[in-house]
Amino acid sequence: MKILVIGNGGREHALVWKLRQSPRLAQLLCVPGNGGICREATCLPGDPRNIESLLAVAHQHQPDITVVGPELPLSLGIVDEFSRRGLRIFGPTQKAAQLESSKSFAKEFMQRHNIPTAHYAVCSSEDELRKSLGLFSTPIVVKADGLAAGKGVIIARTKEEASTAGIGLLNGKLLGTPSAKVVLEECLEGDELSFLVLSDGERAVPLVAAQDHKRIGEGDTGPNTGGMGAYSTDKLVDAPMVEWLLNHIARPAITGMKSEGMEYRGVLYCGLMITPRGPMVLEFNCRFGDPETQAVLVRMESDLLEAIEASIEGRVSEGLFHWSSDASCCVVIASGGYPGSFLTGKAISGLNRAAQSPNVQVFHAGTTYRDGIYYTSGGRVLGVTARAPRLEDAVSRAYSVVETIRFEEMYYRKDIGARALKSRA
Ligand code: AMP
Repeated sequence: MKILVIGNGGREHALVWKLRQSPRLAQLLCVPGNGGICREATCLPGDPRNIESLLAVAHQHQPDITVVGPELPLSLGIVDEFSRRGLRIFGPTQKAAQLESSKSFAKEFMQRHNIPTAHYAVCSSEDELRKSLGLFSTPIVVKADGLAAGKGVIIARTKEEASTAGIGLLNGKLLGTPSAKVVLEECLEGDELSFLVLSDGERAVPLVAAQDHKRIGEGDTGPNTGGMGAYSTDKLVDAPMVEWLLNHIARPAITGMKSEGMEYRGVLYCGLMITPRGPMVLEFNCRFGDPETQAVLVRMESDLLEAIEASIEGRVSEGLFHWSSDASCCVVIASGGYPGSFLTGKAISGLNRAAQSPNVQVFHAGTTYRDGIYYTSGGRVLGVTARAPRLEDAVSRAYSVVETIRFEEMYYRKDIGARALKSRA
C-alpha cells in the first residue's frame, strides 16, 4: 500500500517509523516531513494548513490511505474534502473534529452526554464574563474557545487575573486574534492522564495510557508548551480503570457523536485529570498527541496500518492492538528559549551514535537535513524515546542517549517520569 502522512513533528516521525514496520506497506510519502522523516519516507512540499495543496499532492500521487497528524487540517475539513473525492483518509470530519476545535462545543457536548468534566461557563462578551466570574471560586481556568496550540489556557489565581485573561482572549490582545467565546472552568486538581482510543464511528478500543509533561520547567513550572516529554507504563491505569474510562468517557463520546449525526472516526485523545471525585475530562483532541504518541507507538507490537484501515472501514474490534509490557519514556529536546522566541539553524551532533542505541528511537520534530548534517528548525527539536521492562530503566536509557546529543542552547527537562517513580518508591 502507498501511504501519505501529513505533518512535520515528532508525532509524525513516530507514525512514519511505525508504519514502515507494516508488512503491507509498499511506499511511504510525507508532506512536508522533517530532517528525520526524510530519511525514512519520501518528503513532498506542501502546507498542512492548505487543504488545496494537500489535495493536489494526493491527486498526483494517489495514496491508498492518507494519515493526518496535526489538528489544524482536521479542523479545516481535510477528511470531508478527501472523502468527497473518493480518497481514503484516516481521522474525523470537520464537524466531529469540533470536539477539539471548539472548547465550548466539547463542554456542551459532555454535559448533554453526562461525561464527567469540570464545571464551566461559556462567555461571548465582557459583560457575560464579569457576571460568570461571580459563580466561580479561585483559582479559575480561562480558555480560548478555538485551537491555540497550547497557548489558550490560563490558570488564574485571582478573579482580577481571570477577568484580564478573559478580556484579553475576547479582544485578541492575548493570542493575536480575538476569540468569539471564552470558557471559564473550575480548576481541577490531581494527576493528568492521556487516554487514547481508536474508533470507527461506533466502537472504541483503547491504546495504552501515557502521561505528558506540558510545562517547560522541572517540577511542572513555567509556561505550557506543546509537551516536553511523556512516559507510558501499564502501571498508569489498571484494567478496571480502563473499563471505567471506556464506559463513562470514550464510549459515551463516540455514541454521543453518532447520535448527533457527527460520526467520529480516528483517534480520540481524552486528556483527563484523575481527581478525588474521579476521572474528569480536561479536553478532547481529535488526533494522536505529541509527544505521547512517541511513547505509545514504541510499545505497539501490532500493525498500525491494519488499525488505521479498521477505523476507516468500520471494523474496529477488541484484539486489534497488541502491546509490549515494557514501559517507555520520551524526553523532548527543545531549542533554548522555547516556548518563547528561540534561534534555529544550529547543527546537531551525536545523532549517528544515538541511532545505534538498542531500544531507543530518536524521533525528529524541528529538524532539517542538509549535506549529511541535521540542523534545528523549530522549538521542539527531538524526542528521544526509550523502552525497557521497568520505567526507571526506560527513563535512564532515554537520558543516557539525550546526554550524547548536542546543539547550541539545547534544553530538556531532567525530570520526565520522575513523579511516577517517586510515587512508587
Ligand atoms: P487543555 O488544552 O484544555 O487540555 O488545557 C491545557 C492544560 O491546562 C491541561 O493539560 C491542564 O494541565 C491545564 N488545565 C486545563 N483545564 C484545567 C482545569 N479545569 N483544571 C486544572 N487544570 C486545567
